[in-house]
This record gives sequence, structure tokens and C-alpha cells, in this order.
Amino acid sequence: MAVLELKHVNKYYKLDNKDTYHALRDINTSFERGELVSIIGESGSGKSTLMNLIGGLDTKFEGELVVDGVDIGKFTEKELDQYRKNKIGFVFQSCNLIPHLSILDNVTIALTLSNVSKEERIEKAKIALKEVGLEKHINKKPNQLSGGQKQRVAIARALINDPEIILADEPTGALDSETTMQVLDIIKGIAKKGRLVIMVTHSEKVASFSSRIVKIADGQIIDDVTNEKVAMVASSKRENEKSKENLSFLAAVKLAFNNMKQKLSRNLLVSFGVSIGIMSIILMLSLGNGLTSYFSDMMNSIMNPTVVEVTMPVDTTDPSAAMKAMMGETTPFEDKNIKELSKIDGVTKVEKGFNFVGTPGTNHVTLGKKKVDVTRLQSATSKLTDKNLEKGKLPGNNEILLNRVIADGLGKDVVGKTVKLSLVINGESVVKEFKVSGIYTTGADTEIPDTIETALITYDALEKMYQSVDQELSVGSILLSAKDEDAASNIKDTIKELGYSGSQEEIVGDRMLTMLNILTYVLAGIAAISLIVSSIMILVVLNISVVERTKEIGLLRAIGARSKDIRRIFVSEAFLIGLSSGIIGVIGSYFASVVINAASSKAFDMNVMNNSVTYVVAAVGVSVVVSMIAGLSPAKKAAKLDPVDSLRTE
Ligand code: ADP
Ligand code: MG
Repeated sequence: MAVLELKHVNKYYKLDNKDTYHALRDINTSFERGELVSIIGESGSGKSTLMNLIGGLDTKFEGELVVDGVDIGKFTEKELDQYRKNKIGFVFQSCNLIPHLSILDNVTIALTLSNVSKEERIEKAKIALKEVGLEKHINKKPNQLSGGQKQRVAIARALINDPEIILADEPTGALDSETTMQVLDIIKGIAKKGRLVIMVTHSEKVASFSSRIVKIADGQIIDDVTNEKVAMVASSKRENEKSKENLSFLAAVKLAFNNMKQKLSRNLLVSFGVSIGIMSIILMLSLGNGLTSYFSDMMNSIMNPTVVEVTMPVDTTDPSAAMKAMMGETTPFEDKNIKELSKIDGVTKVEKGFNFVGTPGTNHVTLGKKKVDVTRLQSATSKLTDKNLEKGKLPGNNEILLNRVIADGLGKDVVGKTVKLSLVINGESVVKEFKVSGIYTTGADTEIPDTIETALITYDALEKMYQSVDQELSVGSILLSAKDEDAASNIKDTIKELGYSGSQEEIVGDRMLTMLNILTYVLAGIAAISLIVSSIMILVVLNISVVERTKEIGLLRAIGARSKDIRRIFVSEAFLIGLSSGIIGVIGSYFASVVINAASSKAFDMNVMNNSVTYVVAAVGVSVVVSMIAGLSPAKKAAKLDPVDSLRTE
């Protein structure tokens, strides 16, 4: 039975001006195994067109093209890929070896596409290269071989999958007469093993070595003669297991990696460009994180961890509420609130507190002739710890705690001396004597000086001053003591559930942290814009790459790569660019953080950058995803390339 049969095959090319060109006219013929057929004819007579049809590269034809009993014109895309991969071996005039792959890799590329193991690939390549007499050159690159050797590599590549039909389009067209003879010998040998070899040639001399000569003119067969001189041993039909496997993702990445090595500097530059975007995002997030943890540390360090400060709820949606809270204008507590709070589990002590920030000039302390404003008057409660004492001790009922600004204003060694505290309550001036028990400090572990004149007295002491002018001191805050930090944090949760707010510092702090967070995300968002630029860059580079490698893509398609495989190779390249960008970005941001932190700890005694593993992982992930998205369109473009057109490009 004929291995290949053409029945009424017509091929029309669509031209730009809606005309069609009739390139093949009613071709009827058949070919057997073991034949070495030469197709000869003038240039433009339709030889290549015929080869492309037989090779399954071009399926837009009329008529039937039957291979082993099935019409390949009715094949699905998938069947066609399998057909090219397993039944057909292509040899081109201009070898079409992939320059950056070794001879071994060039020969085995079809096996790579079939996901064959490395050992098997090498074994098969050795057999194929032996058949063309090149087994010693496995590790060379194509440009290290002569023209004849290159063409023999191309033949070995066509043989690797042990195809039944070898199609050679002017395989000797670019060779001198001596190498032509060598190549012809090899081709003859191939046919003798029971394969069908169809070879296009210009030369009558080359044709004379074949078993059959088919002449084509103007798309028609005008002559078909069997050459008696060459006797072919047509062996029986060979059955062998053909791979149904496809290019694995790992193999695609490997191929992509090989491609990228070729244009290393270009790819590195792109990765570097993308990494700048990634780096800025990481840096912005780290900065936000650093500032946030700095402020929360600062706030936590002020507070006695076993004492929970409670204020009446503040409307957090009102921007001025936080400001008011800082000025001491919180809603006062009523008795029922205090009762409710004192019933919370784990509360060991309930204290009342206040926090007034007065207009400058209304309240002051005097010592002898020296007079200093008291801008902030706070309650001395259990919230204070020894950390809040720069000197002396915490105040009792007739004692006052002054901060460094007031103490300095009153002269040296105020601790232990008696000062006069003068307050304006409801328009009336109230004066009372207090003994200075110590010097107050916020206890915050920072270099930022506490410049607000602050004095602290007990709630009872202030209440008495209020009572002296018949005023009632309202309860600005409640302090709940707990036996340990765990209990305190439980109490904190409970008061939130009950609808109360935390300390005034906490309210302000929370607001600040929220703003800081928003700022961080805005900055990171701006940095992310650079990623758009990056993705355009990747898009451009990959598009250039598609153009540069059009011929290679055509070749891969001819030897059975699915368009999916081509897409996979390009998406893999995008993946690799994304990965390297992410890694460069992470390393860059690490060093930048180290430098920035060194500078900031010198200047402000704090580390402004606080990197986190989450950011690093996220940034690399974002980089990879953005790159792959950018790579989609070039990859799609490459996958859609027509194999015949691609092979024809120079
Ligand atoms: P050759 O025998 O030299 O290999 P081809 O098979 O390449 O000839 O071409 C046969 C004819 O078909 C030529 O006249 C050529 O101009 C035309 N042709 C080939 N490819 C196309 C195409 N893609 N579009 C239009 N015409 C084409
Ligand atoms: Mg041609």
C-alpha cells in the first residue's frame, strides 16, 4: 500500500488584492516506502508548496492527501502537530539549525518537545548522528561546523523521531559538489532503510541519484519516471511506538533559559529596569512598616502594661475628635460607666484620671519669683511607673511631679521644694502648694525631647481644688489595674466590646497609624506605577525576540512543536525575567534598607526601614505575575505565527 497518496490536490494562494494564485493544479500521485523521489522543476513551479502540504505545514488545500490511509486535510490542530512530530522529518536548504544550541540539542529538540528523558535523548541522538557520520561532534555549536556537516546535522534532526517520510527541500542547494555527494549518500541510505524520502532539487545530476523523478511545471506534474539504475530495497511497513507526550513546563523553562543566555545583557538590563519598580515597592512598604512599629513601640513604652486606660467613646470618623481627645476634651464618665467598668473580670483597682491641655498663660507653677506655664496637667495614677521618673519618686496627694521643661524653668534642684500651682477653674484662680516629688519623663525611648510643660498631681488633689470653688471635676479617664499583662490585654478587649475607647494617646496613636498606613499604601501604589512601565518594557523586548526568532519558531513548528509549546517557551522567558527582576529587586532593597537604616539610626536613633518576609515574597510574586502578563501577548503572537511563513523569513 502506498504510504502517501495525493488525489486531486489543488492549492490556491490568496493574494492581497483578493485574487488567488493557483499554485498546484490537480496533483494525483502516490509514493511507496523505500522510494527516493526527486522533485524537479523551475523556480516558482510549486515544489516547496507541495512539500509544505505533504509536511502538514499548510492545510489550506483542496483534494485529499492520504498518509497511511488517513486524509491529513481533515486532521485537527493537535493531530497535525503529532503528525509533524512523529511521521515527518524536515530537511531545509538552509539547515535552519538553532545557533545557540549545541549539535546534540539541535538534533534532540524534537525529543525535548516530546518530553523524552535526557538519557534517551542522548542515546537516540547518537544513533541519528552516527547515521550521518557525525557522532564525534555532539558538543559543538552549529557555527563550528562546515556547510556539509551542518546539513548532515539537519538530516540527523529529521531522523531523530524515526519518521516514515523525510522531506528535503533543496538539501544540497547550498553545498559544493563533493559535500553534495556525501549528503546524497546519506539520504540514499535513509531511503534504503524503508523510509520515503522526497527531495526537491534543481539539479538533474542530483536527481539522477534517486529512484524516481517527478517533474513539475506551473503547478502540474508533467513527467514521472522511475529511474531503473537505482534499485531500492523497500522494507516492510515499520511499526513503532510514537510519543504522545508534550513539552513539559520545566523543559520549556530550560529552552527559554538557553534563549535568554544568548541575549544576556539585554535581558539583564530589562530585569534591572523591572527590579527598580519592585525595589521601590519593597522600600515603601518597609518604610511604612518601620515607622509604624517605631510609633507603636514608642506608645507602648509610655504605658504601664498592667494598667488599662479607658475613655468614653470617641467618634473615630470625625477627624477633629482625635485632636479633641488629645486636648483632653473627652466625654466625661458617669457613675454607671464607672460601675460597669469596675465589674470587668480581672480588674484589681479602678482609678479616675484627667488630662487637661490648657491655653498658655492660664495655669502655672511658681517657685519664689520664678514662674512657669503649665500647658498640660495630667493625673498621677498607677499608669505611671519608675520609667516615668527621671529623678525622685511618684507623687502623693500633696505632691506634684514636674517634667524637665518646668523643672529647668524653676531653677536647679526643684525636687523636694514646695511650689505653688495656680489654676484657673471656671474663671476663678485657685492656688495650692505642692511639694515636688520628682522629675517626670514620658519614658519613651526616643531622642525627641518632651517640650510641653507637663505637671502631674493626683485626682484627689485636683478634685479638692475644684471643690474649693464649688466646681465638680469630671472624670476624663478611668484606669483599670490588672494583675498581669495578659489580664490587662483581656480587659482591653472587653472595654472595646463594651464600646469604650482606649487612652487618649492610643486614640491619637491609632489615628496616626491609620494615616501612616494610608500613606504607605499610597507610596507603594505610586511605586507600582513603575511596574506598568516595566511590563511595557518586557512586552517590547519579547516582541523583538519573537521577530528575531521567527525562523526558529517556524522550524520548531515544522518538527512538531504545538503552538501551545511556542507560547509556553515565551511565557517561560517572561517568567524568568520576572523571577530575576524580583530577585534583583529584593537584593537591591535589602542593601538600600541597610544603608538607609544606618543613616537613620545615626540621625534619629531609629531604624526607619523594617523589611518583612511577606513583602519580599509578595514582591517576587508580583514581579513574576506582572512579567508573565506582559509576556502573554508576545507569546500569543509567536504561537500564532504561520510555520510556512516563518520558515520563509530571512
Ligand atoms: P518553488 O517551486 O520555487 O519552490 P513555490 O512552491 O515556493 O515554488 O511557489 C510556487 C508559486 O506560488 C510561486 O509562483 C510563488 O510566487 C507562489 N507562492 C508561494 N508562496 C506564496 C504565498 N504565500 N502567497 C502567494 N503566492 C505564493
Ligand atoms: Mg522552493
